[in-house]
Amino acid sequence: MNMNAQKVLDVYWDGFLPVDVLGIAEKMGFNLINTVEDQAISGHIELKDGIPFCHYNSLEPITRQRFTIAHEIGHYALGHLENGKQFRDTSNNFQLGQDFQEMQANQFAAELLMPTKVVDWLIKDRNIATVESLSEKLKVSTTAMVYRLKKLGWIKG
Ligand SMILES: [Zn+2]
Repeated sequence: MNMNAQKVLDVYWDGFLPVDVLGIAEKMGFNLINTVEDQAISGHIELKDGIPFCHYNSLEPITRQRFTIAHEIGHYALGHLENGKQFRDTSNNFQLGQDFQEMQANQFAAELLMPTKVVDWLIKDRNIATVESLSEKLKVSTTAMVYRLKKLGWIKG
């Protein structure tokens, strides 16, 4: 498997907002389990007989759960699970300055939850121009929204 976030959106997204990450994961053949063995873990993914098994922590805020699932989809779609590799992600893995695959999975999650075209459309055509209203519309944390808006050049700094 080697698909970037845009390709996954093109193939599996129904076009509605917020992006339905659970629906996308289901369409991709994920086995989704809404519990984790350790509450310090946000998400866990591994392949079993070629099927992605994704645990996510459903006790965390919904915006975090959505980012977790998008991040785990990223590990799968980007081919990180080859050779039996698995990931146990804590909130540390969702921050900057992590190893390359964690950064890639975070970038993938941001692009999946906040597609460039959608962000541009909300701001330019729908006049939704505050971080709060954008993050509400896309069901992401304001932190993730600000980071994405900087990356896309809507916010300086
Ligand atoms: Zn990860």
